[in-house]
Amino acid sequence: MVDLRETLKAEAAELASTEERKAGKLRRKLAGLDETRAKLKPELDNTASAAARVHRYQPVIGETPQCPGCWILRAKYSPMVGQGSGGDLFKCPECGHEVPLKP
Ligand SMILES: [Zn+2]
Repeated sequence: MVDLRETLKAEAAELASTEERKAGKLRRKLAGLDETRAKLKPELDNTASAAARVHRYQPVIGETPQCPGCWILRAKYSPMVGQGSGGDLFKCPECGHEVPLKP
């Protein structure tokens, strides 16, 4: 009976050891996810507020067209400049964003 008891204890110890190794892997994986979450959270906040700025975008101030890229991505109004003689392309000198006017 002693042998059976020892055998079962050894079996339990082996299973426990396997589970402990799994727990270690999962702890490391979870730590990695926490790190990823910490990195993604501010990025998510920035992109969400950038997207929300669309509601306050003023495409033209006075007579001057304003760059949508600068407004959405940097919350900054930048005047766009007409390119060429056709007047059908506007470019932002700040970020290089181009907007063709559709006919
Ligand atoms: Zn721009």
